[in-house]
Amino acid sequence: MAVTGLPPYDDSNIFARILRGEIPAKKVAEDEYAVAFHDIAPQTPVHVLVIPKGSWVSAADFHAEATPEQIAGFWRLVTSVAKSLGLEEGGYRVLSNMGVDGGQEVPHFHVHIFGGRRLGRMVPAAA
Ligand code: 5GP
Repeated sequence: MAVTGLPPYDDSNIFARILRGEIPAKKVAEDEYAVAFHDIAPQTPVHVLVIPKGSWVSAADFHAEATPEQIAGFWRLVTSVAKSLGLEEGGYRVLSNMGVDGGQEVPHFHVHIFGGRRLGRMVPAAA
């Protein structure tokens, strides 16, 4: 169930298809809780997506409905991937878009890991 005004989970979304192995992804890491793979259109030298193994549209759904083990397992993979990619020394950004105002395109909860350069402002200035 979506709790942010987004539609209910639809397992035809592109990340569900990656989870089922129906379309390829350049995987960085995988465990029982989550999969990390390179974004198809990287916006920074390192741009990796981490998605939980489950059916959650958004961060709100995930944190409302997943078990504590699933939530901890997901976030552990996020930080271990960032470390394995060599981002800990210089720092990095973890970001999740949610809903229309957040600019979420793929309706399967995911976080972006951005790194490899100075990332600048957290959000663009208002036009
Ligand atoms: P959102 O805007 O939903 O937070 O981000 C979705 C991200 O998924 C975008 O950065 C986009 O480039 C990425 N993306 C969309 N389709 C694919 C795909 O088929 N494979 C991979 N690896 N990334 C994708």
